[in-house]
Amino acid sequence: MSFLEFCDVHVEYASNHGMLPAVRGVSLAVEPGETLGIAGESGCGKSTLAATVLRLLPESAAVRGKVLIDGSDVLTMGWGQLRAVRWSQAAIVFQGAMHALNPVQRVRDQLAEPIRLHRTVPSSEVGERVRNLLEQVGLAKSVTKAYPNELSGGQRQRVMIAMALACEPDLIIADEPTTALDVMVQAQVLRVLTGLVHDLNMGMILISHDLGVLATTCDRIAVMYAGRIVETGVARELFDAPEHPYTRALAAAFPRIGDPLARYAPQGLPGDPPSLGDIPTGCAFHPRCAIAIASCSESAPRVVELGHHRTVVCNLVGP
Ligand code: SF4
Repeated sequence: MSFLEFCDVHVEYASNHGMLPAVRGVSLAVEPGETLGIAGESGCGKSTLAATVLRLLPESAAVRGKVLIDGSDVLTMGWGQLRAVRWSQAAIVFQGAMHALNPVQRVRDQLAEPIRLHRTVPSSEVGERVRNLLEQVGLAKSVTKAYPNELSGGQRQRVMIAMALACEPDLIIADEPTTALDVMVQAQVLRVLTGLVHDLNMGMILISHDLGVLATTCDRIAVMYAGRIVETGVARELFDAPEHPYTRALAAAFPRIGDPLARYAPQGLPGDPPSLGDIPTGCAFHPRCAIAIASCSESAPRVVELGHHRTVVCNLVGP
C-alpha cells in the first residue's frame, strides 16, 4: 500500500466570481521512503495540492476526492486524528521561515513544543532532543537561545527543517524550501534536507519550479499545469527526455541571474499560466504550446502510459 495517495482530488476557492478551480482531478501516490518532486510555475496548483495532505487550506477552499495517509482519508478524519497525523506522520517545511516561525519565541521553545505535545520522548529528555535536532541540521547549540530575527535566512530554514523532523514523521512536505535563499545557501540547505530524508528513510514531497533541482534530489517527478498533472516519470529520465511540451520548456529553462521574474516565466515559454477563472478549453496549455493543433483547443488531451512510471497528458504523444 502507498503511504500517501491523492485520489481524484479537486480543490476550488470561493470568490466573488464563483468557485475557482485550483486543482482539477489529481491522482498520485507516494510510496514509503520515496521522494516525489512536484514541478510547475507559480499558480499551477502545487502548493494547494500539498496543503490538502495536512488540511492546511483556508476555509474558502472546497476539497473533493480522497487524500489517504496510510489508508485513512485526511479529508474526513476528526480533529483528534488529524492532530495525531500532523507532525508525527507528515510535517511541512514552508517557503518563508520568517513567516512560519514565531518571532517572539526562542528557537528551543519552538522546537520543544511539538515534541512535548506528541510526547515522542520523556519530558526530561526534550532539551537533549532539541539539541540533537539542531546538530542534525548543522546548527550550533547556541542557536537554541536565539530568536528567529537573530538568525540568517539559511539558519532559519534549517530550524524549519529541524522542526519538521521533531516528531520523526514518515513524510516531509517541503514547499519551495529554498526559494528565498541565495544560490550557495540554497544548495547547502537542500543537501541537509535530502541527506536527512535519505538517512532517516522518510518520504518527501519537494515542490519547486526548478526541474533541475528536482531531477537531482527526487526519485520521481510530477509536472503540474493549470491544476492538472501533465507528466510523471522517474526524475532523471523525465528531466533528460521530457515528452510533454510544457515539461520540455521547464527543462530547457535556466534562471537568468539577477532577474527574479525568471522563476515565474521559464525562458522560451511565452505568456503565463491561465488565471483560475479563465482556464482554456481542451488542453489548458494550448495557447502557449508551440506544437498545438486545432483539436487541442476543443478536446481534453488523453492520458498516455509510456511504461516505467511515465505518463504524459498530450494529444500528440504516443501511438
Ligand atoms: Fe500542446 Fe496539444 Fe499536447 Fe496540449 S495536447 S500539450 S496543446 S500538443
